Amino acid sequence: MKRLSAILLALALLLTGCAGDGAYTDTTLYAMDTAMNLRLYDDADGAAAAWLQQYLTQLDDTLSVTKKDSAVWALNNTGRTEDALVCELLQQALLLTERTGGALDVTVYPAVQLWGFTGQVYQVPAPEQTQAVLERIGSSHVHLSDGEATLDRDCQVDFGALAKGYAADQCRAYLEEKGVCGVLSLGGNVQTVGEKPPFHQSWTVGIQNPDDPQTYLATLQVKGSKAIVTSGDYQRYFESDGVRYCHIFDPATAEPVQSDLRSVTVIADSGLLADGLSTALFVMGLDGAATFWQGSDDFEAVLVADDGTIYVTQGLQDAVSDCTFTVIPR
Ligand code: ADP
Ligand code: MG
Repeated sequence: MKRLSAILLALALLLTGCAGDGAYTDTTLYAMDTAMNLRLYDDADGAAAAWLQQYLTQLDDTLSVTKKDSAVWALNNTGRTEDALVCELLQQALLLTERTGGALDVTVYPAVQLWGFTGQVYQVPAPEQTQAVLERIGSSHVHLSDGEATLDRDCQVDFGALAKGYAADQCRAYLEEKGVCGVLSLGGNVQTVGEKPPFHQSWTVGIQNPDDPQTYLATLQVKGSKAIVTSGDYQRYFESDGVRYCHIFDPATAEPVQSDLRSVTVIADSGLLADGLSTALFVMGLDGAATFWQGSDDFEAVLVADDGTIYVTQGLQDAVSDCTFTVIPR
């Protein structure tokens, strides 16, 4: 029966054979430190895929914290920049720092570097070293005035927690303008665009199992263009003396977060917001994240706790399936 349905479907696709028939192309690339996949429908000549690929590579060249000719590298090493995109992202980052009570803070970078996450030469530093780095963290070290950003001495920033979300927003705007639907996977960031061809279905997005990221704990049905961004302790980490140190830092301690969460997935209209908040909610932990969501109205979330419980914010309860979960009420 399954086989017959497949044959009928293939036949239907052959017969329609035009744009909107559900056929797609996948393009893979490596940018922003991660493998990306661009699944586009109705992009027969590959023009949209080519544009996205070029855009993502160029964005990486501007925002990379390690490439020596990037605008971020220049800011971190000269203390100032006039780069419009960097200034805009700094402004957005400062707003999110304020909104999250400091849980999201792009000035945490010296700590990320000290613990070895930049060159993957991991170490647990001496407490004095962490203490010294702590003084270099905080949004009061960032100064924005028309068209220029400056940093206090020894302060450095990294947009790793936001850049892919910003990228997804720009890609979505481009694809919507061109009338191309698709789903973009930019590392832990998923961006759906439009309604899934051929029948305007919802998109199905998996929530990764932190213990086995090749498998999924739950599936999420998403309608239209949305950003679905996951931050977790399994994406980048090292272990020392039986303790796991992940790549998400608590800006208040300059140490990797020891969270009671394994992952946070945020669903929002804005990729930048979803990216920033997925990192921030991970820092806040389960109770802090639930309270933060109750005081917000611009996102929903799926939280995977360290005891395996899956918590789903009320607005998503009908969208999550393939698992048992606990609803976080309004
Ligand atoms: P990923 O980049 O793996 O998708 P995140 O969006 O959660 O994950 O961002 C983590 C990256 O952001 C880290 O690699 C680090 O460079 C930076 N970072 C870590 N903790 C914070 C934080 N509390 N605020 C801002 N940036 C952070
Ligand atoms: Mg993030």
